[in-house]
Amino acid sequence: MELNELKSLLQAAGVVGAGGATFPTYVKLAPGADTLVINAAECEPLLYTDLTIMELHMDKVLSGIRTVMEAASIPSALIGIKSSKGKLLHLMHGQELAPGIKVCLLPDVYPMGDEINLIYETTGRLVPPGKLPMTVGVIVMNLETVYNIHLARYEDRPVIEKWLTINGNVKPCVIRVPLGVRVRDLFLQLGIKVPAGHVVMDGGPSMGRIIDINTAIVTKATKGLLILPEDIPAVVTKQRDMRVQLAMASSACCGCSRCTDLCPRALLGYPLEPHKHIRVTVSSEHINPEEVLSATLCCACGICEIAACCQEISPRAVIAEHKTILGKAKMRFTATDDSQYKVSPDRAYRQMSSARWMQYLGVDRYSAHPEYISEMPQFDRVEIRLSQHIGVPSVPRVAVGNPVSVGQMIAAPAGGLSVAQHAPIDGTVVALDANRIVIEAVR
Ligand code: SF4
Ligand code: SF4
Repeated sequence: MELNELKSLLQAAGVVGAGGATFPTYVKLAPGADTLVINAAECEPLLYTDLTIMELHMDKVLSGIRTVMEAASIPSALIGIKSSKGKLLHLMHGQELAPGIKVCLLPDVYPMGDEINLIYETTGRLVPPGKLPMTVGVIVMNLETVYNIHLARYEDRPVIEKWLTINGNVKPCVIRVPLGVRVRDLFLQLGIKVPAGHVVMDGGPSMGRIIDINTAIVTKATKGLLILPEDIPAVVTKQRDMRVQLAMASSACCGCSRCTDLCPRALLGYPLEPHKHIRVTVSSEHINPEEVLSATLCCACGICEIAACCQEISPRAVIAEHKTILGKAKMRFTATDDSQYKVSPDRAYRQMSSARWMQYLGVDRYSAHPEYISEMPQFDRVEIRLSQHIGVPSVPRVAVGNPVSVGQMIAAPAGGLSVAQHAPIDGTVVALDANRIVIEAVR
């Protein structure tokens, strides 16, 4: 299939980055790359979604990869997977799974799924700070994304369901569910009750967010749902008030720079020094965006907050504030001299082992391997968000009262960066506004 033809197909099928980024995949497809890196690192603890897809559907994953390689004339692909998970699939480093597609076993460290770390680890190439992977001839795609590309290309199936890991203080499972289901309906179907003193997190324990199960729905960004106690560091740090964070930064930072010493982006040679962001916040009432430009180089991994700082200060939260300031000023860091950035010789010794990271987060007690639930539960109601991707919201193609069937396009891509949305169940449109289309099943 020609490149432009595949791009149109993926836009119409609603394929976006399934690792949580939700960047429309068709935009990533450009000529000029020599390597396609598949992100199967799944570096967030407790998530087993990509591993399960590989266990069950490696043929479709490889087919999706070949589809991209052929359309974009990319000669080689590397599937980056952590050693511990690769061993579960009996994969070996360097093993060729199909012509041009090899396995790259990654060290068991966090955050190996960070795009910049992943590219460095799989190819040995360092993306200059603030630049795109294509600068070093690489396109990165999440594993579930290439699975979805196969479905769109060979099975005529748009993105209408999501693979999820449900884990934490619950019997862990991996399951496929229709997009747009309410989390409370899903838990009801699975007989899951959230115990007192627990929260539900959408995503992994490091970078996920706490949700209200009465209003939250499964979107294309949802990779997992975790039920976690309120008193573990993974949760406590997400519930701290920003004003308290800033007050603590002002009063307690001793300037030890341990947050910078352990920052995985700093270890790659990026000019990101979280301790200096704390210093700027403490010393000035009004932040000059020029002084905090490097905030845009932070991948929000949380190591500085959860593992590095012994004063319970959150450089991650302070840097997030600085990113907001930069967003308003439409400013970001971009390297001017690509050759000046060198990986730290200390990187190998300072990386965070996955096992240690789980202990820091307080989730090491949940290490059971989830079972796969093959039967997809049925739901009477779904709510499809018109903006569950980066870019312009999709444009509804249906009206209240219209019958719809599974896979039907219910919202078309808007002008600019956008993708289509589709009905995950047979039913009738019962509500529609600027944000969502609600479908109820035919009884
Ligand atoms: S969250 Fe902290 S440790 Fe992680 S990349 Fe950002 S500054 Fe570095
Ligand atoms: S680790 Fe904590 S105390 Fe040390 S410089 Fe960073 S924020 Fe300050």
